[in-house]
Amino acid sequence: MNVPFADLHSQYLSIREEIDEAIAAVIKGSAFIRGPFVQKFEEAFAQATGAAHCVSCANGTDSLYIAMRALGVKAGDEVITTAHSWISSSETISQAGGTPVFCDTDAASFTIDPQKIEEKISARTVGIIPVHLYGQPADMDAIMAIARKHKLWVVEDCAQAHMARYKGQMVGSFGDAASYSFYPGKNLGAMGDAGALTTNDPALARRMAMLARHGGINKGDHEIEGINSRLDGLQAAILSVKLPHLPAWTRRRQAIAQQYDRHLAGVQGVTTTEVMPGREHVYHLYVIRHEKRDELARHLNARGIQTVINYPVALPFLPCYSHFGHQASDFPNAHHNQSRILSIPIFPEMSDAQIEAVAQGIREFADR
Ligand SMILES: *Cc1c(COP(=O)(O)O)cnc(C)c1O
Repeated sequence: MNVPFADLHSQYLSIREEIDEAIAAVIKGSAFIRGPFVQKFEEAFAQATGAAHCVSCANGTDSLYIAMRALGVKAGDEVITTAHSWISSSETISQAGGTPVFCDTDAASFTIDPQKIEEKISARTVGIIPVHLYGQPADMDAIMAIARKHKLWVVEDCAQAHMARYKGQMVGSFGDAASYSFYPGKNLGAMGDAGALTTNDPALARRMAMLARHGGINKGDHEIEGINSRLDGLQAAILSVKLPHLPAWTRRRQAIAQQYDRHLAGVQGVTTTEVMPGREHVYHLYVIRHEKRDELARHLNARGIQTVINYPVALPFLPCYSHFGHQASDFPNAHHNQSRILSIPIFPEMSDAQIEAVAQGIREFADR
C-alpha cells in the first residue's frame, strides 16, 4: 500500500464545494488584494486564537521578519532562537539586521531547552524566538520567566502548532507576538503562500500592519518604509473555509498519533514522539528516532511509504552559518537528533489501513 507523506488533494475533495464557492466569490468580486475576504479571515483567525489583533501577510517567513522589525531589532542586536528548526526561524533575525544566537534543544521534546537560554544572554540580547516544533508547545512558563527577568521580548513561531495548548493556554498568547505560516502542508494550509501575526498589543499590531503594507495603514501614508507582504483575497477566502475544520483535523491528527504510539510501543530501536506534561501536541509532524534512520527510511520508501527528515542539519551546522564556527559539542542534543529523526506520514485524511501499513513497515525493519 502506498502511503504519501501528505495528501492535499484528498483534503480539497473533502470540502470541494465550499472551496470552489469561496474562490468563485473572490473572482466575482475581483477582491484579489485586501478587501472583505482578507478582513474576514483576520477577524476569524484572531477569534479562533483568542488574540486581540491579527495582521495577515504573504507567508510565515515574512511574519517573523515583520514582527522583529516592529519590535525594533537593529544592527548588533542578538536574538536567541532554537538550534533545530526550519531556517525561517533564524534567517529572519539576520534579515531584520540582528544576529541569531542559537540555543540547544531539549533532547526529548525537540523544543528550545530553557535551562540553556540564560547562558546565551548578553548585553546585546533583545528577544527570544521559541518554536513550537512539530506541533508541540515549547516550555513557555520557563521561557517567559527568563524573558521577564531579562526584559526581553518573545515572538512565538507557531508555524507548526496552530492552536496547540500549553497548560490549557493556547500557543501564541504567551509572547509579545505570534507568527503563523499557512503554507499548504501546514495544519492550516492555504493553496499557495500565506501567513499571519497575532498580538494583544494594539500599538505593535499597528506597526506590524504598517510594515507589511509599505509603511502605511492607508494607501499612500508611508509613515515609514515597509515591505509588500500581503495575504491575497483567494488565499484568505480559502483559509476562512478551512479554519472551522481545523479542530476536527487536529483531533484526527492526534488520534493517528495515538495509533502510532500504540503500534510502535516497544518496537526495538524505535523512539516514538514524547509529549511533555501539560503540553497538547497538534502533530504537524510525527517524528520517530532510530539509530539506523537512513536505512529505515530506505526500507519504508521501498514499500511505497514516504518519509521526510525535518531537519537533517540543525541550524548552527548549516553552511550559511559556518562563519560562527559552531561545533557539534555546542549543541549536543540538536546534533544527536539530526541524524536519528524521521517524520512518518500524518495527515487528517489518512486511513487506518495506511497507519497500519506504516507501523507494519517499521516493525518489519525492527524484526529483520
Ligand atoms: C513553515 C515554517 C516557517 C515559514 O513559513 P513559510 O510560510 O513557509 O514562509 C517558519 N517557521 C517554521 C518553524 C516553519 O515550519
